[in-house]
Amino acid sequence: MTFDQLGLTTGLLRAVADQGYTVPTPIQQQAIPAILQGQDILASAQTGTGKTAGFTLPLLQRLAETKTSGKRVPRALVLTPTRELAAQVGESVITYGKHMPFKAAMVYGGVSFGGQARQLRQGIDILIATPGRLLDHVSQGTIDLSAVEILVLDECDRMLDMGFIHDIRKIMGRLPDERQTLMFSATFSKPIQQLAHTLLKSPVQIEVAARNTTADRVEQVVHPVDRHRKRELLSHIIGFHNWQQVLVFTRTKHGANRLAEQLAKDGLKTAAIHGNKTQAARARALKDFKQGRVRVLVATDVASRGIDIDQLPYVVNFELPNVPEDYVHRIGRTGRAGNEGRAVSLISDDEMPLLIGIERMLKQSLTQDVVAGYEPSFSSDTSNVRSVGAPGKPRRQRPRRRSGGSISAPRRAGAGARG
Ligand code: AMP
Repeated sequence: MTFDQLGLTTGLLRAVADQGYTVPTPIQQQAIPAILQGQDILASAQTGTGKTAGFTLPLLQRLAETKTSGKRVPRALVLTPTRELAAQVGESVITYGKHMPFKAAMVYGGVSFGGQARQLRQGIDILIATPGRLLDHVSQGTIDLSAVEILVLDECDRMLDMGFIHDIRKIMGRLPDERQTLMFSATFSKPIQQLAHTLLKSPVQIEVAARNTTADRVEQVVHPVDRHRKRELLSHIIGFHNWQQVLVFTRTKHGANRLAEQLAKDGLKTAAIHGNKTQAARARALKDFKQGRVRVLVATDVASRGIDIDQLPYVVNFELPNVPEDYVHRIGRTGRAGNEGRAVSLISDDEMPLLIGIERMLKQSLTQDVVAGYEPSFSSDTSNVRSVGAPGKPRRQRPRRRSGGSISAPRRAGAGARG
């Protein structure tokens, strides 16, 4: 399946090709034709599935195909729960719509209202907004929603969790009844189904497997190690196992650059991608990595969003992320599409609290494996930490072992030890 088989026009196909995408993701394969036909959709798809392009591409095409009233007021409205997501969607609209004549704007809280109002006055076609700030504009009369043809509710379950339901309903009251509505949600919970029932007309239901869950296929292992020996251990692991395609996560752009330089000195072909690199440099690094010219790709969480490789076998957390959910996103990059994956985390003393947070979220203890020759100078046992779910109840001892001369395949930790 290719993008042109989905019925997209040349401008969009060019934009997709510029991004280096060749194969549409499952959500794109299902959503794009349905949206192009003008149908409402209810899709369960999480971040990482390619859902943004899944609605942005056909949305742009629909706008190009239909006539305008002449006034330059928003014809498409995308609602998101957070500014970050609004900014991300906005970026996608600009990226995919670069060969099209549309103007997009984002409105969300925390930035100047006046600046947004001015931009809206100048005329826009696509509006990406968080509900609260959008309602401020509605009540100030700085936005006219009467010409909206397509409404997208992105991460709908999160919007409900954040208490936006009343705001959403108020916004609905400002939109024409005659419109196409696309709902995206990670789950199809009862409240989501109820909302879908009131907002959607005979929707096409699309469900794609979540990519960002810690699939059973992903073997997760933690190597406790002193911080200053992490790089050395990483080179050792890659070399010992002869790993040929490894994605390594660092927390900062600077850290990514430094690690890439050090690994290169160790003789490993390495590239780094992060927010300070140009889009062209990132695309090049990714292409080299996919095609095997680069063996190790060091990335920050934000930059890694563009990485879509279906058979990525190894993910390394050189540093743990600050947010436990990011751990799940990171390791969701491996073990996809029926393939085995391995996620390795190098943990120094100061990262123990982060590890505890991750294990709590996963409701699972991760197997710890001290690599011979890299014994840490600290104790990495977190089993005296009490569980959130069962206050006062001590956790069972985590499985812990020492490997001999090699780093053997880790045994799986007893799942639910703290469940
Ligand atoms: P999303 O789920 O929309 O957040 O997208 C996740 C990431 O996948 C984004 O960084 C996109 O750039 C990327 N992506 C979307 N569609 C494709 C595709 N067909 N092939 C490769 N990467 C893609």
